[in-house]
Amino acid sequence: MTAAAPATPSSPHVMNTYGRLPIAMSHGQGCRVWDVNGREYLDALGGIAVNTLGHNHPKLVAALQDQVTKLIHTSNYYHVPLQEELASLLVERSGMTNVFFCSTGLEANECALKLARKFGHDKGIERPEIVVYEKAFHGRSIATLSATANPKVQAGFGPLVEGFIRVPINNVEQLKAASANNPNVVAVFFEAIQGEGGINEMHMDYLRDVRALCDERDWLLMIDEVQCGMGRTGKWFAHQWAGIKPDVMPLAKGLGSGVPVGAVVVGPKAANIFAPGNHGSTFGGNPLAMRAGVTTIHTMEEENLLANAAAVGEHLQAALKKGLASELASGAVKEIRGHGLMLGIDLIKPCGVLTQRAADAGLLISVTADTVVRLVPSLILTPAEADQIAAILCPLISALLKEKTP
Ligand SMILES: *Cc1c(COP(=O)(O)O)cnc(C)c1O
Repeated sequence: MTAAAPATPSSPHVMNTYGRLPIAMSHGQGCRVWDVNGREYLDALGGIAVNTLGHNHPKLVAALQDQVTKLIHTSNYYHVPLQEELASLLVERSGMTNVFFCSTGLEANECALKLARKFGHDKGIERPEIVVYEKAFHGRSIATLSATANPKVQAGFGPLVEGFIRVPINNVEQLKAASANNPNVVAVFFEAIQGEGGINEMHMDYLRDVRALCDERDWLLMIDEVQCGMGRTGKWFAHQWAGIKPDVMPLAKGLGSGVPVGAVVVGPKAANIFAPGNHGSTFGGNPLAMRAGVTTIHTMEEENLLANAAAVGEHLQAALKKGLASELASGAVKEIRGHGLMLGIDLIKPCGVLTQRAADAGLLISVTADTVVRLVPSLILTPAEADQIAAILCPLISALLKEKTP
């Protein structure tokens, strides 16, 4: 949320950590939500890339209702069969080998960072260092905000966690230079498509080059798929477009379709780093969360949502390019980019005001990195809904670009 959005504390008792729009949602259906005053919105935000199956999906609702009557939570003192089921589904779809469950994205990334450090210590590296990237976002715990590049996320929370080396995206020479003669490097950590940083894609060649470098130097390749994973780009995981596999892959957001579920999927190189006692999470892998994950994956397959994300994403991208053709030609829209249903419209000026204006026009969107309109709707979006997003959004963007204000 940028400074332009009005900060309206909703209650004297809820801590004031968000610049919220003055809207309160009541209920949803598919890609639509209604506020408490009965106003309808088309949802192109999907709870920030979370509501994979849209709102009130009958299969998810039925599964959760059934699970609530059986078991919500036990603990990881016992076997949880639904964990084994979801782990198998993730292992089959990623081609990796093992899964640790947690509840959020930052928690999944925190686990990845611990894996990297222990991987180093196990090799006799006392002060392991992890390569991270400009414009990266990995969460808001002390370690993950240290790995994040955004100074606004870090401001006020020093001292930051040490042991990170930062490099620009898509430049393998700079990665080699930054790590040259440094025997402490143990891992490379990045988002396959940066989300909060403004929808910036890692190039396919870069992904393959970094995979090769990690193999050559015995580093862990850790790809944060918290936002870009779970089918959003049209493959299960965004890195799969490059035909590579990471060693460590944190997931969250879309995995539970709105129920908090996080996971860290690992390959053979990272499968045996932790032993009992090294890591854990009270809520991680609880039956309710696991049922949400299992049902999300099955429903995605039954309803062909990977193919839908790819096709409707292309349709939406084409509609936006058509609706903003003159702005693209003039350079006022710098670029429309992204993959599948993870799209960014990069403008030449800050556009935080668009979140309120779009809501006033019945459309939910977000703005990241100050100048980028982000669209990460549910994967059930239809071509007609994509057309409607473009029809509402494009005129708002052209009007903003014509205004004299900075
Ligand atoms: C949202 C996000 C996170 C943090 O997830 P939380 O569930 O908010 O902790 C981490 N990495 C990426 C790439 C994200 O988009």
